[in-house]
Order: sequence, then C-alpha cells, then structure tokens
Amino acid sequence: MNTRDTSHLASLSPFELKDELIKLAGSASNRLMLNAGRGNPNFLATVPRHGFWQLGLFAMVESERSFSYLAEGVGGFPRREGIDERFDLFARSHAEVPGVKFLAGAVSFVRDQLGLDSGDFLYEMCAGILACSYPVPDRMLKLSEAIVKQYIRKEMIGGRPYGGDFDLYAVEGGTAAMTYLFNSMKVNHLLKAGDVIALGKPIFTPYIEIPELSEFGLTELAIDADAANGWQYPEKELDKLRDPKVKAFFLVNPSNPPSVKVSDKSLEYLAGIVKDRPDLIILTDDVYGTFADNFVSLFALCPRNTLLVYSYSKYFGATGWRLGVIATDKSNIFDEKIAQLPKAERDDLNKRYSSITTEPEKLPFIDRVVADSRTVALNHTAGLSTPQQVQMVLFSLFSLMDTTESYKKAMKRLIRGRKAALYRGMGAAAQAVDENVVDYYTLLDVEQMSREVGADFVKWLLASIKPHELLFRLAEEAGVVLLPGKGFGTLHPSGRVSLANLNEQDYVKIGQCVRKLRDEYLERYRQQQGGAAKGR
Ligand SMILES: *Cc1c(COP(=O)(O)O)cnc(C)c1O
Repeated sequence: MNTRDTSHLASLSPFELKDELIKLAGSASNRLMLNAGRGNPNFLATVPRHGFWQLGLFAMVESERSFSYLAEGVGGFPRREGIDERFDLFARSHAEVPGVKFLAGAVSFVRDQLGLDSGDFLYEMCAGILACSYPVPDRMLKLSEAIVKQYIRKEMIGGRPYGGDFDLYAVEGGTAAMTYLFNSMKVNHLLKAGDVIALGKPIFTPYIEIPELSEFGLTELAIDADAANGWQYPEKELDKLRDPKVKAFFLVNPSNPPSVKVSDKSLEYLAGIVKDRPDLIILTDDVYGTFADNFVSLFALCPRNTLLVYSYSKYFGATGWRLGVIATDKSNIFDEKIAQLPKAERDDLNKRYSSITTEPEKLPFIDRVVADSRTVALNHTAGLSTPQQVQMVLFSLFSLMDTTESYKKAMKRLIRGRKAALYRGMGAAAQAVDENVVDYYTLLDVEQMSREVGADFVKWLLASIKPHELLFRLAEEAGVVLLPGKGFGTLHPSGRVSLANLNEQDYVKIGQCVRKLRDEYLERYRQQQGGAAKGR
C-alpha cells in the first residue's frame, strides 16, 4: 500500500500539481501515460484553417500584383479596386483545392446573408492576413467585428429576445480577457481592495487565484453548486448575491470542471436577482457554451450588467492561435459607474486617458480596457494581430454557414462518446440524461466511483484516504493523470477527467484503472468489516 505523504502539495494549484502527477505517471518507461489532465483538445477544425491558407495565397498574389521591386522580394499592399473580380477568378481556377469552396462560400455569405460589401470584406481579410498594418480600429477590425458579432449572437444569445447592441474587443484568448478585465476594473475603481466578489464554484482556478493577489486584495464569497443536484446553483446560494456588499459575480458557464451549464430556471432566477441588484457586476466566461445544447449566456438576460468572455480555443481546437473576445452591451453599468465616481477619481481617470481622446470622460469602459492593455501610452499599437483576427473571422463564418450544425453535432458526439467509454471502463451505468450536461470534462468523485457499493463504503473511504491519495496512486500505478477537483473549489475530493484530449479507447482504459483501484480499497474495507464483525 502506498503511503506517500502528499500533504505538502495540498496548496498547489491543480495545474501545478498536474506536473507532479505527470512525473510519477511517466516514471515507468515501458508504460503508456494517459494524461486526461489537459483541457487542450486533441481535435481541430480543418475547414476554416484550409480557408485561412488559401486566403493567404490569394493575398500574396494581390501583394505581388503590381510592384516594381518584386525580384528583390518586395511586395505592396493589396488594392481594394477589382479585388472581388480577382477573387472570383482565383476561386474558379482553384475550385478543387481544399478551403477554396469554403472561402468562396464565405464571401457570398458575407454579401448575401450579412449584407456587407464583399470587396470591403476581401480587402480587410487580405490586408489582415498580410499583416502589413497595425490593427485599426484597435479594439477590432471593422467588418471582422460585424461578423464575429453575428457569431456571438448566434452562439451566446440564440433565440433569446435581445434588442440591444454590443461592442467586441478581440483579445489573445480568454485568459488575456481575464487579465485585461481584472486590471481595468481595478484601475477604473469598479473593484477596490477589500470588495467582496462572489465566485460561482467550482470554477476555473485563475478566477480564485487572481482576486487573491495582493494587487487586487478582493474578498471571495463562494456560491456553491450542488453536486447532488446536477451541479446547479441552489436558490439559497444565489440569494447571497442579494447582499449589497457583493460587488461582482464571476461565473464560468458551462462550468469547469463539472462542465454543466446553468439551467434555464437558474438563469431566470439570477436575472430576477439582478433586477433587485441593478449595480451588480457580472463576468461570465462562456468558453464552453458552444458545446452545450441551446446555450444562452447570462449576458443575454442581463446585458447591462455583464462582461462576456468567449474563447475560440476549445471549440475550434485552437489554443495556439490565442483567440478570444470580450463583449459589452452598448448601454451598460460599467460606463455608468465610472460616470458616477467621486470627482477626484474621475479627474484622475480623465488625466489617465487624456492622451488618447479629447473627451476622456466619455471613453467607454471597453475602450479603456483596450488602452489599459497597452498601459494607455501605447494605445496606438493595441489590438489583436490582424492574421489572428482573420482566423477568428473564418472560424466564425464556418460556424455561421453551417446551417445543419454538422460541426457542432460532431463535437458533441465526440466528447459524449468518450464519456460513455469512461463509464463503460468503470463498469458503471451511464449517467442519467441531463440536458444541462456538456461533458467537456467530467468529475469523478468517490461517491461516483462507489455508488453501487453503498454509502457506508463511501464514508469509510473518504475517512481513510489522504488528500490526493487516489490521484497519486492512479498516476504512479496506472500512469493515469487527472486533475484534483478540490483545487477548483469542489467540496469533496474528486478528479477532473478531461474528455477533450484522448481517444475513446484511452477513456475505457482510464475507467478500468479507476475501477481496479476502487476494488482494492473495497477489498480492504471488507477485510476490516469482517475483522470487526468477528471481534464483536
Ligand atoms: C480553457 C479555458 C480558458 C482558456 O482560454 P484561452 O482562450 O485559451 O486563453 C478560459 N476560461 C476557461 C473557463 C477555460 O476553461
């Protein structure tokens, strides 16, 4: 029996602890490591990537079309005039090349469905992919913003009535969005040291760790999801947001690690709370929303209060691209709160932003976030690199044009098939169908591993194991790496199994390893019980 002392590792973030587990799991050289600790998907969207490379080739032809120093390797800017016709020719003469049909379809879609000028679109895309100008406007390229807005509307608002309009800031992934937002909320006095912020737990660990940093000094209040009720937030927990001391509510929806979306009922309940708390700041990180059925963001219900963060990393298998957006409604409480700050603070902020606008008091919060991302003084070079914006646009168009949702259905089949494989491996019945379950991750806790054995065994097991003991034994003895659910703010010991990054057969094997380990403890439990019975 392994008696490794793991107590000194208890304070590590799950992502740091993972490195320890990987070392153990990799130590037996003749064994395959099964690392289900990573959220990084092992799939990627091919069509919009093909489109990107073909667009790049077309843009190169555009650049080299009429420049005197071609032989020396010098090209020029693409030309707006006639770009439509030249693209048509390119598309027709390369019709069989992967990605070209998609690109030609995208140009028609932008023109016919979105009502944008296809020549302007091609010009923005060609200049963008050639990366020959700073991103202007810095918040986001113009047509790119219009197109990505349609995508965000479709995926985050869906059929929900929403009469407003919103702005987007294209950023280097969801994590950059978090960094920028935390910083600008602090600089603009929306959050001050000592303020109470509520976290919908369990939650992606940076949302726990960032507010605790000394430069933020925020006080955290947990809004705990109920594992026994499909990881939904009980109304009693949500009611904590009614306390005016709570300045902000941070939510990951669908959650990480349970990977469950907030139910429609809870969303409505939250919207009701916000009616009574019109000053409450909400940040919702909806990175996994695109994997859910009929997803609606809290942003759609409470647009005035909500900062929406979305990332392309997971759904398009594009973590290396660093693509994300921040969205704010054009009419929002952030601008209003800034306008209502005490005079001294407003004067201070007006001075801060006076180098970029003659009317700094009118600068919307989202544009302050852009400026702050480059310490204001470097605002003229702010913004996401233009090729990144081009790929973001192509990902968005790919999804918008997919009227039968074939990509989305494939994504769901893929991750749900892996979960079924995991449970098959454990010899456990598949979980009951729950429309809110997304399955990008799944949490295995002791209850789940042992449901069919009985509550007494679960109690005994929880009392007899040390922190992380099961995770360390899985790593060392079976080469299986899972992340500890505890670090994400779960209330019971558990392991997060990422369903994104291994193949179906691997999940069967992981399930079998978990089962084997469980059976070993069960054996021990039965021996002890037998001994106790005899002694009586
Ligand atoms: C994976 C993940 C991210 C990462 O976003 P990037 O776009 O890759 O920076 C953000 N938020 C949550 C909740 C995640 O799980």
